[in-house]
Amino acid sequence: PSLFSELPRYQIDSVFALIADYIADTHPEKVSLGPGVYRDDQGAPWPLNVVEKVEKQLFEKNDAGRHEYLTIAGDGTFLELARDLCFGFGEGTPEEEKLKLKIASVQTISGTGANHMGALFLSKYLKPARVWISDPTWMNHHTIWELQGVERRTYPYYHAEKRAFDFEGMMATLEEQAEKNDVILLHACAHNPTGLDPTKEQWKAIADLCERKGLFPFFDSAYQGFASGNLTEDSWSVQYFLRNKPNMEMCLAQSFSKNFGLYGQRVGAFHLVSNEPSSELRESIKVNLCHLIRGEYSMAPRGGSTIVKTVLLDEQLKKEWQNDLTIMSDRIKVMRKALYDELQRLGTPGTWEHLVTQIGMFSYTGLTAAQCHALRGKHHVYMLDSGRASITGLTSENVVYVARAFDDVVR
Ligand code: PLP
Repeated sequence: PSLFSELPRYQIDSVFALIADYIADTHPEKVSLGPGVYRDDQGAPWPLNVVEKVEKQLFEKNDAGRHEYLTIAGDGTFLELARDLCFGFGEGTPEEEKLKLKIASVQTISGTGANHMGALFLSKYLKPARVWISDPTWMNHHTIWELQGVERRTYPYYHAEKRAFDFEGMMATLEEQAEKNDVILLHACAHNPTGLDPTKEQWKAIADLCERKGLFPFFDSAYQGFASGNLTEDSWSVQYFLRNKPNMEMCLAQSFSKNFGLYGQRVGAFHLVSNEPSSELRESIKVNLCHLIRGEYSMAPRGGSTIVKTVLLDEQLKKEWQNDLTIMSDRIKVMRKALYDELQRLGTPGTWEHLVTQIGMFSYTGLTAAQCHALRGKHHVYMLDSGRASITGLTSENVVYVARAFDDVVR
């Protein structure tokens, strides 16, 4: 027998199996509501207009250094722009400059890599007894922390009956069971998979709880600007914590996959916020992150971050990016409403308002696993058994078909 014949049998993230089943299906009306990727109204991938424009510019520029290595920390200009975007810096006031001194940033292999580098760094140097993860969450949070050997605990997030964010459940669990130095994972906006976010008042209470109990907030920001179309609004939670809890230390994993449509380019950053505006401490944190990065992947890739940097450096291009964000987020809102309207028209049993009030790419539809099976088997509509639907898979052409399929399986 092979030395490897006793390997554990992992079930890799079910979304990939779902994609494979969808591809194998030959039915002409099949619909994919599985993966978290943007699709246009023809159901096709959509390179952002501004990205296509910058790609052409970069091609014409023909910079001989375009395939050189970055430094271990990554592209410094990109990192400053990325930091300013998520923490809402702009005016360069003395107060902002002081805040910047608290933040050590490194470039990562997109949001996944940022989550991973954060988990790796914290498990080594913060040594939390446990990490608190929302139930449910993006499945990779579990894998990433499991691989660091940190005990994972979940806090309630979804109230199934009310189809709403379970704020009381979350607070009660953390209040009773979380301990000083525990890490708490928070989705900065557009919670995956529920599409339900805390209100501003609830965020304030969460920040107070973290401060009072000495928890270490770990923000995962994968949808800034993509969720509501508004870059500031989608980063409100992060900016509130930074500005209102000066003694609290925290970190943030930032992805540019969705808001720039650069999924396969792996563009991201990890930011660690200390409670001291000290360039020495910042440098020391950065050097330690670089030590880990060197041993893992040497440095992040260059292509995608150059595109993001070029856009964020130029006010005009930034406006064009904003326009693209509006196109994507508006289309999602229109599709949410179209699905809702059609279900209303059909008189489908149950309440469906959550389809329009949830935010971002996903809707937690409330369909059961059995109903999702029936959707696939009978109607060739593919979504996860959890009932999560990626709204971007809906188009003006297929939305009526999908609504009828929903109607059929819930009756
Ligand atoms: N975090 C959350 C909550 C996500 O939904 C995603 C992508 O689906 C990511 C992080 C990271 O994605 P990527 O590694 O493509 O940046």
